[in-house]
Amino acid sequence: MITTLPTGRRLPVAILGATGAVGQTFIRQLAGHPWFEVAELAASDRSAGKPYAEACRWLEGPLASELASRVVVRCDPAEVKSQIVFSALDSGVAGEVEQSFARAGRMVLSNAKNHRMDADVPLVIPEVNAPHLGLLEMQRQKRGWTGGIITNANCAATVAAVAMAPLHGAFGISRAVVFTMQSVSGAGYPGVASLDILGNVIPYIGEEEPKVERELGKLLGGLTNGAVDFAPFKVSAHTNRVPTEHGHLVCLSLEFNRRVSPDEAMEAMCVWRGHEAARGLPSAPELPLVVTREPDRPQTRRDVYAGGGMTVTAGRIRQDPLFDIKLVALGHNTIRGAAGGSILNAELLVARGLLPPA
Ligand code: NAP
Repeated sequence: MITTLPTGRRLPVAILGATGAVGQTFIRQLAGHPWFEVAELAASDRSAGKPYAEACRWLEGPLASELASRVVVRCDPAEVKSQIVFSALDSGVAGEVEQSFARAGRMVLSNAKNHRMDADVPLVIPEVNAPHLGLLEMQRQKRGWTGGIITNANCAATVAAVAMAPLHGAFGISRAVVFTMQSVSGAGYPGVASLDILGNVIPYIGEEEPKVERELGKLLGGLTNGAVDFAPFKVSAHTNRVPTEHGHLVCLSLEFNRRVSPDEAMEAMCVWRGHEAARGLPSAPELPLVVTREPDRPQTRRDVYAGGGMTVTAGRIRQDPLFDIKLVALGHNTIRGAAGGSILNAELLVARGLLPPA
């Protein structure tokens, strides 16, 4: 692992939407980070001007006193000075705000849906498609920005993509059915009302199915002549909210361009280590994907913190009577599927020397 930057100094970073579920996860994931230091916390006008501990309802673990007393600022590039800006903004505002930061020369690492499918915006999971960062140069030229926007994927799509990447790379997926069981923290804070979700399953998550269906093609596509060449498979997604706290469990049925047995699929997944560009980065887990042979795993409570929440656990790889194989995958939605994934993207940018000039 690369422990310190050549300058020996940590880079100041800002968190937009710092008070929400993902914003808080950024704070936890960045505690003691070897390259980045949380310098600024920003949120809506409702929170601006208040000490952080007063502006947010802190949900989990200890909050460092220097951050608890830090005054929250508005999400405005005139008030936020850091060059690296993590965005955990609500999608209702993220689109415009993120563009204003990129225009002001900042590097925005977004968790919101707004720019994910823009042709010139990289949608990146480093182990899956690190070369997509090549779009950044085109984005800067086209939009006249010195900064830029890089997005990570929808949290359920992220879990599916990590499990599918070795299989698509080895055999070529032609069709996929993706059925999810998604935890309540995926809906943010306060999110779903307790009386709606306790003892219940809600077979609807607004706008989630189209996100999963379209993002997987971009994530698993290649980069040809400066554009993403979408993976040609078709995806059908069913997304469900279930009463777990963290972790999205994803059941996949996959058909390939040729017959693939469960043993072949297991072998391809077990040897996969992800794109070499991600290896050794501070937030990269030792294994991006772990395959379990236990018949009743992965399980949300037991496996969600594999690799510090950055490893996807897959299992139950078996024959599918309609497709070729079926399997189950699990990942942490606010860590691998949001803040941790964004931080890994920022580390990749730094390692590749792609930050805009200060
Ligand atoms: P959340 O808990 O509802 O937090 C939303 C954040 O946005 C809060 O900090 C809020 O600040 C801020 N905000 C709302 N309106 C604003 C405005 N007008 N101006 C500036 N800031 C504003 O949501 P979340 O779950 O953390 O999700 C954040 C983003 O990440 C969303 O785009 C979501 O789709 C995406 N995402 C979430 C997950 C997940 O697992 N939760 C996973 C992947 C991606 P105030 O407190 O001041 O209102």
